[in-house]
Amino acid sequence: MTLADRLRTRIAMDGPMTLADYMTACLLDPADGYYATRDPLGAAGDFITAPEISQMFGELLGLALAQAWLDQGSPAPFTLAEPGPGRGTLMADILRATARVPGFHAAAQVHLIEASPTLRAVQAQAVPGAVWHDTLATLPDQPLFLVANEFFDALPIRQFQRDGDGWRERVVGLSGDALALGLTDPAPLTRLAHRLDDTRDGDIVELSSAATDAVAIIGARIAAHGGAAIIVDYGDWTSLGDTFQAVQAHQPVDPFATPGQADLTAHVDFAALAHAAAPARHSRLTPQGVFLERLGIAQRAQALAAGMDDAARARHISAHRRLTHPDEMGDLFKVLGLFADGAAPPPGLMT
Ligand code: SAH
Repeated sequence: MTLADRLRTRIAMDGPMTLADYMTACLLDPADGYYATRDPLGAAGDFITAPEISQMFGELLGLALAQAWLDQGSPAPFTLAEPGPGRGTLMADILRATARVPGFHAAAQVHLIEASPTLRAVQAQAVPGAVWHDTLATLPDQPLFLVANEFFDALPIRQFQRDGDGWRERVVGLSGDALALGLTDPAPLTRLAHRLDDTRDGDIVELSSAATDAVAIIGARIAAHGGAAIIVDYGDWTSLGDTFQAVQAHQPVDPFATPGQADLTAHVDFAALAHAAAPARHSRLTPQGVFLERLGIAQRAQALAAGMDDAARARHISAHRRLTHPDEMGDLFKVLGLFADGAAPPPGLMT
């Protein structure tokens, strides 16, 4: 039975499912889930991410984390963590860039949080000696320095459409034989009470318990033991509208047509993350381009370009532009910093 067949059977027996349950099945089903069964990253895959575009991304994030660690008095030991590490490229670049920061490697314990066995195997090549976790909940109780790039957009969301003072949930049901979206009856929802002020009838808002649960763990570790987090993803300060999307071979596709074959994501609601991270404090939400420029990407790009031939330099210039330009990833992607009360925000970020 294909995943689509199994989902149709499940819906026929149990009724429509939430988008969150649909996303979880499509992404993480052990036999047929998108991440569980493949390495989707890179030009030959379905999408490409910042660390795969240029080593500069990981180098600058690594040095920003190391500076935050120095600013906090070089606590030892500490957890150097990344949820959703993909191919492990970001963590490998962080470790290379920080090799000469005195004491940093000796104090760092590298922890990766990864649901996909396929990607864990790829990560083990790039980051030998890491410790793997299924969830953030099992990270050690000690100072936490964490990066997350395009992790939160992969977490399941639910969608609600405003109807008067209540909300209808958008759920996945059957239309004939095809998977199709439907709406539940309207009901009031305490969790969305605060959204009655900034939405109108018919507006769609998205909620991700998986995202707020994950960031609550990060915030609790940082508030209790010190540390910092740099979270990079596409999204905005508040979620408004339908941002659920499917991508296959670098093209948008129908999210219900081929369950398990396409990457499913949603934009990140950064206000919800910042709120759930309390009592850790958060920085202002900052565009990726601005953040990387503050960290000195122009100087790093120049230094790297010096040793390159013409073809490599052309690729390098285009990668730099792709990471920072407002028409490319520079504005769409945002950065949120988390830090403990009494500490400064990580370099490149401010309150
Ligand atoms: N950070 C990487 C990869 C982003 S793709 C990069 O920038 O290249 C999303 C990553 O999150 C993949 O490694 C995927 O397997 C992982 N992932 C998705 N859902 C997850 C979950 N619920 N728990 C842990 N890892 C998850």
